[in-house]
Amino acid sequence: MIIHLKKGVEQDKANAMADELSAFSIEKNDVHVLITSSGIKKLDTKYDGLVDETFLFENDMQLASRDYIPDTREVTIGGVKIGGANNNTMMIGGPCSVESEEQITSSAELMVELGVSTLRAGCYKPRTSPYSFQGLGLEGLKLLDKMRSKYGLNIITEVRDSTHVDEIIEYADIVQIGAKSMYDHGILKRCGKTDKPILLKRGFGTTLKEFVQMAEFILSGGNDNVILCERGLRTFETGTRFTLDLCGVAYLKEYTNLPIILDPSHAMGYAYGVADLARACTAMGVEGLLIEVHPNPKLAKSDASQQLDHSQFTELLGSVRGVAESIGRTIV
Ligand code: PEP
Ligand code: MN
Repeated sequence: MIIHLKKGVEQDKANAMADELSAFSIEKNDVHVLITSSGIKKLDTKYDGLVDETFLFENDMQLASRDYIPDTREVTIGGVKIGGANNNTMMIGGPCSVESEEQITSSAELMVELGVSTLRAGCYKPRTSPYSFQGLGLEGLKLLDKMRSKYGLNIITEVRDSTHVDEIIEYADIVQIGAKSMYDHGILKRCGKTDKPILLKRGFGTTLKEFVQMAEFILSGGNDNVILCERGLRTFETGTRFTLDLCGVAYLKEYTNLPIILDPSHAMGYAYGVADLARACTAMGVEGLLIEVHPNPKLAKSDASQQLDHSQFTELLGSVRGVAESIGRTIV
């Protein structure tokens, strides 16, 4: 249950009620909002004087539910707005990892040249082998910071574990929580305590309900700026790296109020399929796309097979702009 207390209810009364109900308590527009388990369906009459409005839910998808907020939430990233009444589809482009100043500068310059707002690149990589490239860490974050100041780009980079979550929040315009880190409660709870936008990627074996509940960890901490990202599930199929769950995206669009960004690069795992998937994703009217692109994909230190080269990315962008336009959206 979500409970809106009446305006003017004092903090200590809100806190006491939250304690009694084992509820989260956040403040929105001078109103105390309590969030209990969805199992609570009725409040004791002793709270009547404090309560303005209550919202009931069938399960713990509550703050993210369209039954609570019917419209898609608006999230602002630098000068870019997605969700709300904006028909923007935000393009996020860049390499899998920051590898060197020369490499990330080349990527940043491509984004500027093509009018893309947001540069991606990881510095703390959640690799499946300890012997492969793990990322440049803080040195990489400093290079991304340089790209933001030099080129005015928004920066998205991923947090791998809670040891460096503060660093990522400080350096990024959007904090990416990766598919392998999305159950890390240290990360989720810390991300609830900032107002930086958070891109939460769906784990490759995560149900839609679990996915949205992980988003609820961030929302219930008080951060309204949560964006969901579908990046492919592990299925029986081995011909492609993962399977992009567009049915799941339709479900998330129908039932949740969170903006959605689709990542065809990690789903496909191979450059050849990324442009087709990007067009299909754009046609779904989502709030953004995340595409990996590298100045020289063959030499990439991570995810080499799926990264586009600059000319493939340029071509992809032209075609997704056309698809976006045909459904009344703009690629930003
Ligand atoms: C990435 O974005 O480079 C990445 C590691 O993605 P995922 O968490 O979806 O595997
Ligand atoms: Mn990658």
